[in-house]
Amino acid sequence: SIPLGFFGGIGLASKNGILVKGGNYLEALNSVDKIVFDKTGTLTKGSFEVAEVKSHSSYSADELLNLAAEIEQFSNHPIALSIIDAAGSFENHSSNSQYEEISGAGIKAKLNGKTYLAGNKRLMENNNIKLEDHEKNATVVYLAEEGNYLGHILISDQIKEDSYEAIKKLKAMNITNITMLTGDNDSTAQDVAFKLGINHYYAELLPDQKIEKIESLLDKKGKLAFVGDGINDAPVLARSDLGIAMGALGSDAAIEAADIVLMTDEPSKIATALEIAKKTKRVVW
Ligand code: ADP
Ligand code: MG
Repeated sequence: SIPLGFFGGIGLASKNGILVKGGNYLEALNSVDKIVFDKTGTLTKGSFEVAEVKSHSSYSADELLNLAAEIEQFSNHPIALSIIDAAGSFENHSSNSQYEEISGAGIKAKLNGKTYLAGNKRLMENNNIKLEDHEKNATVVYLAEEGNYLGHILISDQIKEDSYEAIKKLKAMNITNITMLTGDNDSTAQDVAFKLGINHYYAELLPDQKIEKIESLLDKKGKLAFVGDGINDAPVLARSDLGIAMGALGSDAAIEAADIVLMTDEPSKIATALEIAKKTKRVVW
């Protein structure tokens, strides 16, 4: 017979801003025993702000910020946008300038004949730049010119209020296996995980390593749901038992790859989805 309850459940979910792409995914929610969250833009607001600029060169802090914006103009990563926002005036370069965006690391650009780097510790290490300082509990963009370290910019992001609610609700529903993945540095990740009460986290992951991590967490006991904001995480959404994308920021590729799309950026909608799936099951069987 036709499981009418599934249609009812999908309708109820959509009324709550949760798009479920099929009854099988609604049913699969009932077997979820592990939830993996992406950090930036999912658990945190992903709206970064420049908190501090520290120059270790002859550039003043303002000059360094403007230079960073000049390099970051080739990226539309939220970190890049925050730097461009905070900067004063800087030289605009055409999109046919020589530059490379290194996913999960930063930007390399050739400007006025010089090679610049803006990105994380990994980017600097891979280019043999010796950092003269390391920051804790913050997202940091390090800068280099022609192989020389120039200084860094501290970027702050905030945990969404709703993320606290989400983790509390999931735990109350007996989903205690909660993991956070991020490309961000270890100390920032630890800080966010600790504040939210998330017991497992993995930091400094490149996009491919996020997929490997998901693969290592999959098992036959229960289903794994991955929740991401859809920036760079379409392959991870596709590889999970249940891929859940947050619609507001998500790319078309992520929405395509996801099984469930949340129309708002509230992680607590996962708990709502689980509740709806449970109710639907009761109606069907
Ligand atoms: P997350 O996994 O937290 O969503 P991403 O994979 O988007 O993070 O990025 C991981 C890290 O790579 C960032 O925390 C940042 O350090 C660095 N990064 C990525 N893109 C840029 C950029 N355009 N400028 C500077 N740093 C960047
Ligand atoms: Mg992300």
